[in-house]
Amino acid sequence: MTRFLSFGQDARRIAEADSVAVIGLGRFGTSLALELMDSGTDVLGVDADEAVVQALNGALTQVVRADSTRMDVLQQLAIGDFDRVVVAIGSDITASILTASLLLQLNVPVIWAKAVDEQHGAVLEQLGVHKVVYPEKDMGRRVAHLVRGAAADYLEIDKGYAVVKTIAPQFLHGITLTEGAVRRTHNVTIAAYRGVDGEWRNAQADTVLGDGDVVLVVGPTREVERFAQLR
Ligand code: ATP
Repeated sequence: MTRFLSFGQDARRIAEADSVAVIGLGRFGTSLALELMDSGTDVLGVDADEAVVQALNGALTQVVRADSTRMDVLQQLAIGDFDRVVVAIGSDITASILTASLLLQLNVPVIWAKAVDEQHGAVLEQLGVHKVVYPEKDMGRRVAHLVRGAAADYLEIDKGYAVVKTIAPQFLHGITLTEGAVRRTHNVTIAAYRGVDGEWRNAQADTVLGDGDVVLVVGPTREVERFAQLR
């Protein structure tokens, strides 16, 4: 408990900056926290397991061992001062729901929570959690599209609408995008391209693609997938 008490001041300082608290530092929480750190966001990491906390010590702005299902602990950590908190506890559904409920009581403006399945997600949504994510389901779907098609990368923006990264098909080599009439004939938009110099650029009407160029294509899922099959 002394640790939580002494931590309160630090947590408050972190909370003032552009910062995020991540509760639960399993594979998902850790990867999320490290990515946030990498992009310059301060992160307070919280986990009940001392070994997990030790392993991440120094990698996050602050890491504390604490049980997030206790209101007094969350208050000591000044979690209510954070604008964004992520509940990354998955398999312990009770702990996930209890934590989310306490964060709502603390009026955290934006709460993200990971759900392991639809039922878990439905409860979190009913509680009022603002953003519920399904990392395993989403990744499974994403990989399915990669396995199915020829895309180098794939991201579904919303149901039925996606972005893919793929090789510029031959029919576009040496002509402008306007001449290629991709929108009219394939119902997709080429948003950007990477030339042989390795630089990404926004695609323009007069962009001319060549052998080895990579394109970022946006449009309805079926159409972008079909486009990614073209060679
Ligand atoms: P992942 O798939 O991301 O590895 P998971 O879905 O298996 O994680 P859990 O094992 O439930 O998720 O939890 C992830 C982390 O959350 C663990 O490191 C665990 O110690 C921590 N955790 C679980 N309950 C609590 C709690 N009440 N307070 C703080 N941390 C907790």
